[in-house]
Amino acid sequence: MRRQIVGLLVISALVMAVTATEVSAADHQEVRQVMGTLATVQAWAPDDPMAQAAVDTAFAVFDHVDSLMSTWNGNSPLSRLNAAPVATWIPVGHEVCHVLQAAIKVTHDTGGAFNPTVLPLVKLWGFRGGTPTLPSGPALAAALSLVDISQLQVADDQARLRRSGMALDLGGIAKGYALDRAVAAMLRVGAQGGVLDLGGNLFVFGQGAESEVGIVDPARPETLILTVPLSSGAVATSGQYERFVTVGGQAYGHVLDPRTGWPAASGFSATVLAPQALWADALATAALVLGVESGLKMLEGIPGVEGVIVGPDGIEVTSGLVGVAGPHRAQ
Ligand code: AMP
Ligand code: MG
Repeated sequence: MRRQIVGLLVISALVMAVTATEVSAADHQEVRQVMGTLATVQAWAPDDPMAQAAVDTAFAVFDHVDSLMSTWNGNSPLSRLNAAPVATWIPVGHEVCHVLQAAIKVTHDTGGAFNPTVLPLVKLWGFRGGTPTLPSGPALAAALSLVDISQLQVADDQARLRRSGMALDLGGIAKGYALDRAVAAMLRVGAQGGVLDLGGNLFVFGQGAESEVGIVDPARPETLILTVPLSSGAVATSGQYERFVTVGGQAYGHVLDPRTGWPAASGFSATVLAPQALWADALATAALVLGVESGLKMLEGIPGVEGVIVGPDGIEVTSGLVGVAGPHRAQ
């Protein structure tokens, strides 16, 4: 399995840093490996210790969310739920339940393009180890029968899975949740603004944080093709180029269509702007599955949300970005 983390780039980082020092005395930035990806956190605050504390706080939140929601860590509440006997209520805590409830809502709002019960398919396609092979028809049908949001129940900080073999994967939404929590925590310790990038999920907040987000060409992920202005809020990009398995010389991307069991089409990317990163993250994954026409229609129907879908036939944006998003020019 190869992995490239290129989804979003803040191309005006220099401009932001200069603007930030005009409004705040101190500015601190760190890059660390967290949640299976690379995270960059920048904070500005009245003094150096506060800026440093804000950055440390954000990374502590990322580690905390990972300890709750990772399916790579067998001890996380989510892994314990996945391993529990069928239909057994498992105490998973308030935060996991909050994200599960949000994931259920997005599943319904996107006609099942997003679905957190997708883990059996993720495993079948070889994204959790083993040699990737093209699944047989019966194996695909068996995994698909376990992808069923109606068999996930959440109540009173507990959850249960009502079909044997079902398993949850919050990889399409947990980073967004972690970003929202991290920003709240940074504000609590005195940050006046910041820019956070968690593996293709971006959050910008505070005075002087106006920036432009660069969107890469899914066919050439090292090339920016579009910029979108962002003064505050979240942006998430999903693309099959971010992570894929190769079978018989053909690349199959990590975002799967829960309705067919097959990977969503390659060569596309979906970028979603929203006030909260949790929604941007989940909706970007869903929009990638839905494709250009249905994806844009779905995004248009959600108040406060805008999006960009890039495919082989060009760039399409939601109505709120017409005339705002512009072609990228080399700086
Ligand atoms: P993202 O990078 O946010 O688009 O999330 C992709 C990750 O979410 C994958 O690596 C899987 O772990 C998981 N996933 C794949 N397909 C879906 C889907 N249709 N709905 C929800 N999660 C998915
Ligand atoms: Mg996502």
